[in-house]
Amino acid sequence: MTAQPPTLSDVLAARRRLAGHVVRTPATTYPALDDVAHAAGVTATRLVVKHENLQRTGSFKVRGALNLALRGDLPAGGIVAYSTGNHAQALAHAARQVDLPCTVVMPRDPNPVKERAVRALGADVVLHGPDLTTAAAHAGELAAESGARLVSAADEPDLVAGVATATLELLEDTDDLDVLVVPVGGGSGAAAACLVTTALAPHVEVIGVQAAGAPAAHDSWRTGQLVTRPIATRAEGLATGRGFALTQELLRAGLTDFLLVDDDAISQAQHAYLTAGRTVAEGAGAAALAAVLAHPARFAGRRVGVMCSGGNASSDELLRALTSTGATVPA
Ligand SMILES: *Cc1c(COP(=O)(O)O)cnc(C)c1O
Repeated sequence: MTAQPPTLSDVLAARRRLAGHVVRTPATTYPALDDVAHAAGVTATRLVVKHENLQRTGSFKVRGALNLALRGDLPAGGIVAYSTGNHAQALAHAARQVDLPCTVVMPRDPNPVKERAVRALGADVVLHGPDLTTAAAHAGELAAESGARLVSAADEPDLVAGVATATLELLEDTDDLDVLVVPVGGGSGAAAACLVTTALAPHVEVIGVQAAGAPAAHDSWRTGQLVTRPIATRAEGLATGRGFALTQELLRAGLTDFLLVDDDAISQAQHAYLTAGRTVAEGAGAAALAAVLAHPARFAGRRVGVMCSGGNASSDELLRALTSTGATVPA
């Protein structure tokens, strides 16, 4: 059964609940970053970066996790989740805020930055299986044993309502947006963006972006079916192997288009963020910018919001980005 989608009033309730618990992140323009876009052929575009890389725990996901936890109705067994990292950090942080235990199942060989952060937030980390699909099954077993609340990666109305507060802030801070580009893994962030723009700014197009190597959400949206797909991308925030019912329902209603970018384009966008925007973005966090740079005709002449969704990049990842060629600051 599909959970009921949240409404704008759920988003407003989330905003009241989250006040003082999350950063109101800046929405920033960078002339040098616009120059990079212009040099890539995206002529006369003006970008505005929503800086969720500066959010607590380093990604927008904490908005959803705190919205879930601060409702006050979690069981004494706490939370069990499966995650490649940012969802885990967000839930670990949220569980700690309400003094409940949190267990996170991660696939083997996680991003070390993210694994360390989850442990530092007091959560138990269980490394299990080669990918998120296997980790998810194990998390389900652990939750059934302990009575903890299993928190899905995406079929969670409270997560969607919470992360929607990021789009709400962006619309408040930027009154002339034409398009909002949002990276997609499970789809909560993009579904939330659709929910808020449909209600408050229906002229704003929302465009989703996923990694070409892990296109489950993209293919689910295109086919109208919940499909599973292999996962082959370095951007672990986008590495989701299946479509989720709740977020796909919202995406079908609200998304204008869905683009795919390859990992090299993502590295180049990270490079552009570092050099022209003084911004550390992890792969998933740079995917929206990568899509803009890869599709000049679509974004030329428009005011484009790019969701910089997270900043938890490993040093290897940043080195790769800095040595990647392609989108660079024009001389
Ligand atoms: C999880 C994540 C995404 C994808 O968000 P969904 O809500 O799962 O679609 C994008 N960027 C970052 C940094 C993430 O952590």
